[in-house]
Amino acid sequence: MPTLTKLAMLLAVCVSMVLADRSSAEPIKALLLTGQQNHNWRYTSVVHKDTLEATGLFAVDLTDSPGSALADAQSLSKYQVLVVDYNGERWGEPAETNFLNAVRNGAGVVIIHATNNSFVGWTEWEKMIGLLWVQGTTGHGKFHPFDVNYLDHDHPITKGLPDMKAHPDELYHRLVNIQNVKFNLLARAMSSKESGGTGNAEPMAMTLDYGKGRIFHTPLGHVWTNSFDTKVSVVDPQFRVLLCRGAEWAATGKVTLGTTWDDVRQHNTLTPTEQAQGWKLLFDGKSTDGWRGYRSDKMPEGVWDTSHGSLWRKPGKEGGDIVTLDQYADFEFECEWNIAEGGNSGIIYRCTEDHGASYETGPEMQVLDDPRYPDSSPKNRAGALYDLFPMSQDVARPAGEWNHARIVCKGTRIEHWLNGYKVVDIDTTSEEYKKAFEASKWTKMPDMGTRMKGHIALQDHGSEVKYRDIKIRVLTSGK
Ligand code: ZN
Repeated sequence: MPTLTKLAMLLAVCVSMVLADRSSAEPIKALLLTGQQNHNWRYTSVVHKDTLEATGLFAVDLTDSPGSALADAQSLSKYQVLVVDYNGERWGEPAETNFLNAVRNGAGVVIIHATNNSFVGWTEWEKMIGLLWVQGTTGHGKFHPFDVNYLDHDHPITKGLPDMKAHPDELYHRLVNIQNVKFNLLARAMSSKESGGTGNAEPMAMTLDYGKGRIFHTPLGHVWTNSFDTKVSVVDPQFRVLLCRGAEWAATGKVTLGTTWDDVRQHNTLTPTEQAQGWKLLFDGKSTDGWRGYRSDKMPEGVWDTSHGSLWRKPGKEGGDIVTLDQYADFEFECEWNIAEGGNSGIIYRCTEDHGASYETGPEMQVLDDPRYPDSSPKNRAGALYDLFPMSQDVARPAGEWNHARIVCKGTRIEHWLNGYKVVDIDTTSEEYKKAFEASKWTKMPDMGTRMKGHIALQDHGSEVKYRDIKIRVLTSGK
């Protein structure tokens, strides 16, 4: 074997060891300060927490009362980075002094979007974050997609990072450097006149020093309250990567995370928040433990492969559906699925094994390549409650892309979510359900949907399909 190849292999082993270690290493402790905002902070703060924790690198505590959380200097000292998503009243003393001291002593800071609207007149804050929104000077055009270009390709945060393409957001212009501080500009975006902007390239990401602390500041991340359309800004994978890399650098001075969201986020793991909420993984990323064939003691042979970090139903002859070992009554289930071109599969839930097929008892969330599959009835498309209710919104992604599915069963109430949108919401005792049932092929299989508890099945419909990040949380009554 040529030495170079050996070296490359050794390197690959080292890299995979580092990656595998991410979740077992001591996490970076972050405190997210929020609670007052002219924006939808209840939404954005939890998204930011999820974004950071999905890397396996951070453990994030969230406070909606910074004034009291920062009052205890002792408890503040355990955080390596303070993430601020806040635009409201001053925090008061001793919170403000404790905050400044923590940063002077080396705590990192992340400033997001309208956070830079707050605290104008607080000199030390102005020095720390550099650019601020000043009423009467600063502004923005309309919310729209725009490119963000990275300028500094040597900085740890932006090294190797591809420019953002068509990032949907609000583009702040004429932010003011009130204290005339030195900052390192990482990124800019053109504020076009057509969008209501200045016609100039405006700063979109920067770093600063404050004492021993490292500051990462981005004016991106606008989400307005009661505005569904603007929610996309903070879940844009390009924004998430920038935020994670900025936060890691602010905390440690280095960046070990990858440059795409798919690299940065971990799969088949639970974040500390998910663990605390009672989520359980149904797939460990490596083995078929926890699964078996429908009406069988073992997995169908030679069909389901796990070598690529997903439960992958390989191309080839049919082997049959697989089911969870356990049965579930009321639950919240999530996974990502990726269907091959022209493919058909499904997530069937509350199914029992007293019939020949899982779908004879369990309702199904359809998994399908809609445009290429011959059956074009809306109630049989991806995300639908199969043959009963179509998706209320057209949000399925093309074949070969990962879709995020969520199924909630609470008593007789069933919800399907796809890619963040609730697409089916029905009570199986309602007139609407009965009518849909009468008009469906289920009249020939009257036990379908009658079980209040059962297995979760992944359907083998003869097509190639992948499932990953499969997890479940049992709901107790009243939740
Ligand atoms: Zn905004």
